[in-house]
Amino acid sequence: MNIVSDIKAWKSYRKTLMGNAIGFVPTMGNLHEGHLNLVRRSKNENDFTIVSIFINPTQFNQSSDFENYPKTMEDDIQLLNSVGADCLFMPDKQSMYTDNYTMRLTETEISSTLEGEHRPGHFDGMLTVVLKLLNLTQPTRAYFGEKDFQQLLLVKKMVDALFIPTEIIGCPTVRAEDGLALSSRNSRLNQVHRTMASTFHEILSSDKSLDVITQQLTQSGFQVDYISEKWGRRLGAVWLGETRLIDNIQL
Ligand code: AMP
Repeated sequence: MNIVSDIKAWKSYRKTLMGNAIGFVPTMGNLHEGHLNLVRRSKNENDFTIVSIFINPTQFNQSSDFENYPKTMEDDIQLLNSVGADCLFMPDKQSMYTDNYTMRLTETEISSTLEGEHRPGHFDGMLTVVLKLLNLTQPTRAYFGEKDFQQLLLVKKMVDALFIPTEIIGCPTVRAEDGLALSSRNSRLNQVHRTMASTFHEILSSDKSLDVITQQLTQSGFQVDYISEKWGRRLGAVWLGETRLIDNIQL
């Protein structure tokens, strides 16, 4: 697997890929089966698969969350090699934000609820970095997980609104055996919280009312940010100690 960090080197390298169908999987690293599933799908549908690892500072609304975000570069490279990713792009903060984030992208409708309401500025940072990464990688198709459903909707909307020539492909959420959606933040759960975490998906999936679901989650030890039904999904965000978990199911 080719690994490129420098943006200038990246641009020259990208020119050598002209004429190929390119699949792109943007990530923040600490890779797990959820990410690898996106890579496999991309490999099936394209000639060439680019994965990026960039922990995007502008989408974190808490500096402690950014600083403590798990970094496992050696393991990540090994995993990407094992699934046959062709190329890893890992730019640094300075070269991604030469403008010091004075230029940014804002969506004002979908972004104003749920994750957007609870994490001010998160979606501006996410959309801005995805736009930069799509411009740099110029993929035929880009792969995003349904786990971050609101993000997926926003990226699709951005591509439509800005006429970006990339097809956005949503992929189902990959879960642990006990139902917990895989997430890089799960590694921060202590043993007790990890055991409790499995009930999040179970309670979210019940046929009870949203009020009862919120009550059951609270009684089970979660602090609930929101439980809501929108876009044909039931979506939720909860805290277990210092760790925030999100999930959603199709209605
Ligand atoms: P992240 O590294 O958390 O920014 O995630 C990178 C991509 O992987 C995003 O499109 C996520 O939605 C997707 N992703 C993360 N976890 C999962 C999962 N458990 N199942 C499917 N996709 C996932």
